[in-house]
Amino acid sequence: MFTHTINYCSFIKQKCSLCGIYTAVQSGLCEGCHADLPWLISFCPRCALPLPPGLAEYACAACRRKPPCFDHSLAAFRYDFPLNQILPALKYRRKPNPLGWLGQLLATYLKLHHEHRTWPDAIIPVPMHLASESKRGFNQARLLASVLAQEIACPVREDVHKIRPTPHQAELDLQTRRRNLADAFAVECTPPAHVALVDDVMTTGTTVNTLAGLLKQAGAQQVDVWVLARTPEVR
Ligand SMILES: [Zn+2]
Ligand SMILES: [Zn+2]
Repeated sequence: MFTHTINYCSFIKQKCSLCGIYTAVQSGLCEGCHADLPWLISFCPRCALPLPPGLAEYACAACRRKPPCFDHSLAAFRYDFPLNQILPALKYRRKPNPLGWLGQLLATYLKLHHEHRTWPDAIIPVPMHLASESKRGFNQARLLASVLAQEIACPVREDVHKIRPTPHQAELDLQTRRRNLADAFAVECTPPAHVALVDDVMTTGTTVNTLAGLLKQAGAQQVDVWVLARTPEVR
């Protein structure tokens, strides 16, 4: 009975996921909304901290002073409008749908910036504690990782688990953040040689640094970090 079914959806032009007015032309967005996003053009190659043009071929002062455990980071956007509205809203209203088109945008960005690099053997989403994930109903990092896995044909592995709940990182200073994360994560088995950690936002990088350190202790040789958005300054 399905052999003569016509896919009428293909005749309906999808509206832009952001403005809802114009026709979507790429990754669910209209041309104007796509161009207006705060794309991250110039950044520290190690931690993706936004840097003035011309300084981006060198690591930022913080990475030179104390190199992080991860090797390389890519963030599609500065954590600026509208990302600083969309990302908190989808988490706290428990409506993860925007992660679909955001994940596609990140995948396109990664493909553009990965020209001369090797893809990782696996993608690892930054884990949430089980209680927090049950409360929210999803882990945004895992949803993003699953979109990326499809787009770049790379498997998702969940080798790292959060075994202890921690206070919200944004409320803590840097020293307390580090102490807060000690012993909060565990690596379950030997990871592949090259992995990419995926998360929605990177602020100080303390979480991904902790995870990269654990993954390297467990046998990983290269750990990259892929995030949707990077905050402009280390706070
Ligand atoms: Zn639009
Ligand atoms: Zn840096």
